[in-house]
Amino acid sequence: MASTQMDDDLLEQERRHAPGVYPSRDKVFVRGEGALLFDADGRRYVDCASGQGVAALGHAHPRFVAAVAEQAATLVTCSAGWPTAKRAELGVRLAAHLARIGMDPARIFWCNSGTEAVEAALKFARLSTGRSGVIALERGFHGRTFGALSATHNRAYKDPFEPLVPGFTHVAPGDLAALEGAVDDRTAAVILEVVQGEGGVHPLPADFLQGAAELCRARGALLIVDEIQSGYGRTGRMFACEHAGLEPDLLCLGKAIGGGVPMGAVAMGPRVAEQPPGSHGSTFGGNPLACAAGLAVLDALEHDRLIECAAETGAWLAERLRGLSSPKAKEVRGLGLMLAIDVGEPAAPHVAKLVDEGVIALPAGPHGIRLLPPLVIERAELEEVLAALERVLAS
Ligand code: PLP
Repeated sequence: MASTQMDDDLLEQERRHAPGVYPSRDKVFVRGEGALLFDADGRRYVDCASGQGVAALGHAHPRFVAAVAEQAATLVTCSAGWPTAKRAELGVRLAAHLARIGMDPARIFWCNSGTEAVEAALKFARLSTGRSGVIALERGFHGRTFGALSATHNRAYKDPFEPLVPGFTHVAPGDLAALEGAVDDRTAAVILEVVQGEGGVHPLPADFLQGAAELCRARGALLIVDEIQSGYGRTGRMFACEHAGLEPDLLCLGKAIGGGVPMGAVAMGPRVAEQPPGSHGSTFGGNPLACAAGLAVLDALEHDRLIECAAETGAWLAERLRGLSSPKAKEVRGLGLMLAIDVGEPAAPHVAKLVDEGVIALPAGPHGIRLLPPLVIERAELEEVLAALERVLAS
């Protein structure tokens, strides 16, 4: 329990006004630095959640802090109906990366979260093709607003909110024959994650991904790739698509792209028709504050070798996780610093015990302990995580 009176008051106040949709927890994080978090009692935690995959640069990264502070003192808001220098610069810089995955020229719609990026991509795909059907994958997660929730697979998230958007079908990941049977002349888009994150950290086979792209092209559908969790260096490449040579038509981004300032984006490649004026929009999307934050994230990714670090540290960590002595550690899956240890039983109790050991992790799927540390994490910090996992999985 948090020990001070101030914390108890704060916890009580937060609980009184909480919406009920989040777990009720008793730790109050007051500060972060790199891959570390500190609670109100001054206790230190190694952050292997990054605020659900957001803090790729870690906490309080000096480049990021300076950029956000400077922009806050200059111009925070400017509707996307008006050009601004930071948005223009961010668009050019992101487009240079998108060109590597065949999105050249790319147009970019800016929004404020992952689920908004998915909603926008679904609308853009419908308008571009004049079709309404969407094929998604079992185990897939795309967000919790109505369109994105319709693409999400987990029934527990969906059932209470039926009826959802019609026209969504789910097929088994990796089953190209099932996908071939599902995509027809009513299909606007196939939507998938290259590495299914929430579903348990399952990288999808390259031949399946390639096959899905070819099928979309042959049948006039668009391929929406959701890299909201896997994008921006997390898997050891700028985009997880690059591992499979996959070229999306629409790419959804979120989480890390604003470094913690809420931000989402949809990139549209050459096969997507230009969207008519007024067909979509966002009050906050692409505001100068978020774009300045986004530029600081790109600066750090490009100049501090963070993507290479994610690849190297991730490979090292996966190897060490495979060497854990506990028989509970059944399988290690993932790419780069997007990893899960499958424990073959509910993972949530283990994730809770890790907090007591000073490690913040996440569950993934029914049996996965998911690690999404900041890309700046050091091996000495990961040694602490490995030792904590040994202790927790021993019991
Ligand atoms: N898509 C994927 C792959 C995600 O992992 C998430 C969030 O976990 C989302 C979409 C939804 O993003 P947000 O929570 O920012 O709406």
